[in-house]
Amino acid sequence: MTARILVVDDIPANVKLLEARLLAEYFDVLTADNGFKALEIVDNTAVDLILLDIMMPGMDGFEVCERLKANPRTSHIPVVMVTALDQSADRVRGLKAGADDFLTKPVNDLQLVSRVKSLVRLKMLSDELRIRAETARNVGMDDFMRLESMDAPGQVLLVDSRASSQERIIRTLKPVAEVTAMSDPQAAVFEAAENAFDLVIVNGNSEDYDPLRLCSQLRLLERTRFLPLLLVTDLGQEDVVVRALDLGVNDYIIRPIDPNELVARTLTQIKRKRYNDRLRSSVRQTIELAVTDGLTGLNNRRYLDNHLKTLFNRAAVRGRPLSVCITDIDRFKQVNDTYGHDIGDEVLKEFAKRIRTTVRGADLACRYGGEEFVVVMPDTDGTSATAIAERLRRIIEQAPFDLPGTGLTLNITASLGIATNLSGLDTPEQLMKQADKALYEAKNQGRNRVVAAAA
Ligand code: GH3
Ligand code: MG
Ligand code: MG
Repeated sequence: MTARILVVDDIPANVKLLEARLLAEYFDVLTADNGFKALEIVDNTAVDLILLDIMMPGMDGFEVCERLKANPRTSHIPVVMVTALDQSADRVRGLKAGADDFLTKPVNDLQLVSRVKSLVRLKMLSDELRIRAETARNVGMDDFMRLESMDAPGQVLLVDSRASSQERIIRTLKPVAEVTAMSDPQAAVFEAAENAFDLVIVNGNSEDYDPLRLCSQLRLLERTRFLPLLLVTDLGQEDVVVRALDLGVNDYIIRPIDPNELVARTLTQIKRKRYNDRLRSSVRQTIELAVTDGLTGLNNRRYLDNHLKTLFNRAAVRGRPLSVCITDIDRFKQVNDTYGHDIGDEVLKEFAKRIRTTVRGADLACRYGGEEFVVVMPDTDGTSATAIAERLRRIIEQAPFDLPGTGLTLNITASLGIATNLSGLDTPEQLMKQADKALYEAKNQGRNRVVAAAA
């Protein structure tokens, strides 16, 4: 994941420090030493996140933040206020000005990187949503992607073995969320699977259970795998935090809990959950609105051609990777010839289902025609795309296709071709052509494999 970050601070040493740390994570970094310059940069350049100092001559960070949030063209850019440790009043003002999160000076590496990544991921989801809304408008379905009901109070499940800290967290979150508190981690897993929560907060304060174990259980369960997780941890437990983030925990907060920070982080994660849900439901709505393949429920070619153009151009403007994967069922004609066209259709349905459950929320899966499918993966380089395609290939091969109502189970394989932009490709058509060539190569090499087009 990469992103363009704007660092705003009037003290050159602070800018240098943050810049160096972000560059080390391969972020693209822009800098400004005052608020006016910052606003000018944001006006002229696509920025994904802003790290904003508060005390600056001329225009302070609060005002910069207010102006950004008041402008519809920039209000979606996440702003992280960099505050002094002892200035908790600053955080309240920051929240009022619309800040999305806080970092405390001196900025800790792990916190900086995890915060930035968390918010950049959130921004990518919201960008994707806005782009889909635009595509929907382009194909004449104006109000099918309105973003209302995103501000209702969030539903939070708190897993915490101490009554006193439960109470404190419930009180803190009262204005922004309804909290269900539980102390038994196993009961909490059931609760999370049974009910529609927006966020699980796991307080790692217990000797009775392993919080990371709980987090990994929640990540594994089908019904909770997309649920955001926020871990409450202690200072000096960086190893735990690193492992937690590896497990897919979305964010963490260090005790003693700063109430404003908890509120900000909770709101971010709730938003993230809702954007994610909305992305998924936008796919469902699309189905109803006939830019969909009737047989498989995936988007059809018309939608792909339209949307790929938008995604391709966006990636080009931002210098981001974009991969496409074309997959074609092996020897599919034999299935039709042996079992008939209806059974062939059932195979296509199951194939599409496996694609849909394998790709990620921001990916676009389409039936390109016949027994050919395309997955468009924004912000995905060739290496990651190959890994995703390989996973898909295995998911097709691994379990025989169980065809409902037929008593048949068939072994199916597919060949996959991948191409990535960033290799001098000028048009989406060229990108598709490359992927098609790679697919042809995969067929030639014996089928049931992934081939990536040479960069
Ligand atoms: P290869 O491994 O080279 O891809 O072999 P193949 O048999 O899969 O490829 P070929 O392109 O020769 O055959 C594709 C078949 O897919 C032929 C066509 O009848 C069938 N097909 C296309 N669309 C549909 C459909 O909607 N339903 C069914 N049942 N079959 C379809
Ligand atoms: Mg074919
Ligand atoms: Mg085929």
